[in-house]
Amino acid sequence: MIEIPADILEKVILHSQSGFPLEACGILGGTGNAVASHYPMTNTDASNEHFMMDPKEQFAVVKALRASGEEMQVIYHSHPESPARPSQEDIRLALTPNVHHLIVSLQDRENPVAKAFRINAGVVETVEIIITV
Ligand SMILES: [Zn+2]
Repeated sequence: MIEIPADILEKVILHSQSGFPLEACGILGGTGNAVASHYPMTNTDASNEHFMMDPKEQFAVVKALRASGEEMQVIYHSHPESPARPSQEDIRLALTPNVHHLIVSLQDRENPVAKAFRINAGVVETVEIIITV
């Protein structure tokens, strides 16, 4: 279970839509299982099928999170043309421990779908998203 405030989920979806047709990506910080901050990131791959975060941006976010007493709760990215489930590559590259993976599907552009997962050693587990105010 992961708690995401409605306004942050809205920003994640807007960032995903603004990146279309390329994949957008970002980080959500927080404490416990509750998200409290949103850091949109640059997809340095500039691809519609995969994403890569800029290591410098990522380092800056890790520092900012540490300074505010938060942890990296979620790594999110969009799937411009495919469903909201991890691709084989997502599973292979899911190397950050204890993080949730949020995928925003824009396959139906009018109705974005966001789903959260845990990925550990190739095993994908769906995580319930609780939207808070
Ligand atoms: Zn993906």
